[in-house]
Amino acid sequence: MRRALDPIDQLLLLDPGGRGIDRFFRRGAALAAARALRRARRVLITTGFALGPDMPETDGPPGAAVLGRALRRLGARVRYVTDPVIARPLEAALTALGEPAAIELFPEAEAEVAAREILGRIAPTHLVAIERPGRAGDGVYRSARGEPVGAWNRAIDGLFLVRSRATTIGVGDGGNEIGMGRVSRRTLAAAGIPLRIVSTVKVDHLVVAGVSNWGAYGIVAQLRRLSGLDLLHTAADERRMIEHCVGAGAVDGITRRREPTVDGVPLDAHAGIVELMRTLGGRR
Ligand code: MG
Ligand code: MG
Repeated sequence: MRRALDPIDQLLLLDPGGRGIDRFFRRGAALAAARALRRARRVLITTGFALGPDMPETDGPPGAAVLGRALRRLGARVRYVTDPVIARPLEAALTALGEPAAIELFPEAEAEVAAREILGRIAPTHLVAIERPGRAGDGVYRSARGEPVGAWNRAIDGLFLVRSRATTIGVGDGGNEIGMGRVSRRTLAAAGIPLRIVSTVKVDHLVVAGVSNWGAYGIVAQLRRLSGLDLLHTAADERRMIEHCVGAGAVDGITRRREPTVDGVPLDAHAGIVELMRTLGGRR
């Protein structure tokens, strides 16, 4: 008999976008990622998906901020790397949590050279990508609608493509993000994901969720359970983070409007998910 689904996994399985998440969901992945991250020493987190020259999504930076804060509280040195257009909402999410914004911009230089320079300098023990474009098989970055987005998103997935000692973790919700190379194309096709958008970039631990922020919160909920420390943010923090992200120029990835929603889901529902994670996630 199959083991009952962990309550955090049950929440990550919710599929507000109707993307067939249950087809490519990975049971136990948030817990496995939490176990891998629990004793991390130096973590480099990348996040953010830009849909246009001035259109960073609200999905990603809040997840990165909440996970980064948890790892910092557990003793890791945490840094963030992203594009200039995403640095603003990411900084807004971090400051909404009272976190230091140790953000660096990924250089425009040749991706592999830039990736090697950053990895050499920071020597991360763990690399994390939360809702970050990953190149498809033809080398092109695409939105869920299939439009090329490489002009607005630097080749940060290069960090995951060059050989390094870091353990890698990816969180995604649509098939086009860093890490989705772990899922078979057949599985993604069965979920109805257009294969031309699918990223071939792999990670050691892939966490799939209906909204990528939730995937990151799910990892933190599992870290909370493993450590017994109250590492998860509150519903009030969630509202403040998303509102600040929008104030810093972020848009909803579905409606593409500058409004405090994420992937077409209203703020109250995100606050509710955080509250449910706090209630159902338990503490050891
Ligand atoms: Mg996505
Ligand atoms: Mg999303």
